Amino acid sequence: MNYLLPCTCGQKIPIEPRRAGETVQCPCGLTQQAPTLREIRQLPRAVDESPPAARREVAWGARQRLLMAGTIVVVIAVVLALLIAQLRPSAPYSVAKPELMAAKVRASSLVDSVRFYHRYLEPGLERGISPEEQDYARKREQFQIGMVVLGVLGAFGLALMLLGIAGVGSRALDLNRK
Ligand SMILES: [Zn+2]
Repeated sequence: MNYLLPCTCGQKIPIEPRRAGETVQCPCGLTQQAPTLREIRQLPRAVDESPPAARREVAWGARQRLLMAGTIVVVIAVVLALLIAQLRPSAPYSVAKPELMAAKVRASSLVDSVRFYHRYLEPGLERGISPEEQDYARKREQFQIGMVVLGVLGAFGLALMLLGIAGVGSRALDLNRK
């Protein structure tokens, strides 16, 4: 059991009773003579907390690492999602506004209509899928896959964060049980 010997600097030097009469040094550098054994025993006792404190430090470190890793993963997922959102493909005219397109066709000249026919209706009298629409479908699929991947990544990061928080909870229960 250590006792706390006050230094003039305000710190308290933990000393063992067997050091009575010896010269002890404070972390501040000042030295002083330790009092007698009897006087030492009247000093406030140092609460020996080093093992639990060390354990708590380890637990805290693990929790912080989980929280940190989770936060980094979530931030990366969010930033990537925001960047990819900028690349979201826009629907071609024929997909986004079919009624406007129909109106445009009705109002177009014969030459325009023939051009339109070649572009969109060539596969047959049924309206086919235009190159723009194929391109859009492919890009939209890539976009959706990217968003799903980032969603999974973000969920993984959140899980890490929750594990970090839950880890503290279970350790707090452990300490309470002791
Ligand atoms: Zn001191």
